[in-house]
Amino acid sequence: MSRSLIARLSIIPNSSFRLLSLRIRCGGSSRSQSYVSSGIPVSMSPTFPVAASGFRCHCTEREVLGRSASPKKKRVVSGVQPTGSIHLGNYLGAIKNWVLLQDNYETLFFIADLHAITLPYDAPQLSETTRNTAAIYLACGVDTSKASVFVQSHVHAHVELMWLLSSDTPTGWLNRMIQFKEKSVKAGNENVGAALLTYPVLMAADILLYQSDFVPVGDDQMQHLELTRELAEKINNLYGGRKWKKLGGKGGTLFKVPEALIQPTGARVMSLTDGLSKMSKSDPSDMSRINILDPKDVISNKIKRCKTDSPPGLEFDNPERPECNNLLSIYQLVTGKTKEDVALECQSMNWGTFKTILTDALVNHLHPIQIRYKEILSDAAYLNQILSEGAARAAELAEPTLNNIYEAKGFLRK
Ligand code: ATP
Ligand code: MG
Repeated sequence: MSRSLIARLSIIPNSSFRLLSLRIRCGGSSRSQSYVSSGIPVSMSPTFPVAASGFRCHCTEREVLGRSASPKKKRVVSGVQPTGSIHLGNYLGAIKNWVLLQDNYETLFFIADLHAITLPYDAPQLSETTRNTAAIYLACGVDTSKASVFVQSHVHAHVELMWLLSSDTPTGWLNRMIQFKEKSVKAGNENVGAALLTYPVLMAADILLYQSDFVPVGDDQMQHLELTRELAEKINNLYGGRKWKKLGGKGGTLFKVPEALIQPTGARVMSLTDGLSKMSKSDPSDMSRINILDPKDVISNKIKRCKTDSPPGLEFDNPERPECNNLLSIYQLVTGKTKEDVALECQSMNWGTFKTILTDALVNHLHPIQIRYKEILSDAAYLNQILSEGAARAAELAEPTLNNIYEAKGFLRK
């Protein structure tokens, strides 16, 4: 991390990213849905239990500083699925952070269209939602003079590497993924496609293909990231080093083992209708989320009707009041106020008053993004060019890794 980013983060109390060397076993004990927010930052996202849920995290800011001493920029890769509407959770948990990272890391942000087909989807809509998602990235501040933005399916190496990784991924690891369990139950177990089970392998390919150092993700993706790390280590041991050299390769490790880059807060924005479930694109109820493109009246209606509770006053961190914590956190993040200021400002408020100021804060924060979004979408040629350049750059970076893994796995090369 460069000095400038450190300086920027240090003026934001408690908001610096945490580097997590996750040491969970894939599929460890299922996470509790409840949470308590842990110190909410200024201008960043809310709630998130870093060390909760059975994860053992070694979060050291010194480690981040030490690692970034090298002049070569570390590489960061992340993406969002173009399924449905991008919501506040995606924005606060992922995209907003990318904008901070792009100044100091080599960044690749892709639209994860291959992931969007893991559950039944609307084929005629896919290309449009893919473009819209790209436009949202740019509208939120992703700057293509710094970051590569591309569509996942435009870089064939993702799918190729996924297959090569699949043969070394035990199905037991995949069966234990919490998202697989949850989403397959919702989708009716018997009928879910195999891709729902195997998509963490695609996610591993997305990350390992680029020898990524860090992966900024929300809390919900941490188990998949740990699978990626385990897989990288396994493949390095199975095929790397001397074994690879004997096959004519250069030896050494095939994959860098990536680390999660997450914020102390904001990695888990909760649903508006249930403070114990995360806000999700796949939630059938649109009332459960604020979409980045929601107009003012829709935001106002959703906040008016969102779930609240009856105790007097408003407070953070009360596990009995998850909705209250979530809404205060969202307010804090979109206003850029400190947690302490918000706690003081809202401690005696009733829900009616708070909902009005929260609605105004959301509308003020999202309105400029919505204006930029419309401008970007209206220039199709510009967006096409961005995506084409981004894919070319990504393909160039992916090629050596793909060649190495073919070589190390013993394939006859052309
Ligand atoms: P789906 O329900 O289709 O899985 P999603 O809302 O979970 O959609 P994804 O495209 O799977 O969105 O996730 C994109 C990024 O947004 C990931 O980095 C993920 O960790 C992050 N993210 C998703 N939901 C939240 C949330 N509620 N709070 C914080 N981050 C989130
Ligand atoms: Mg998801």
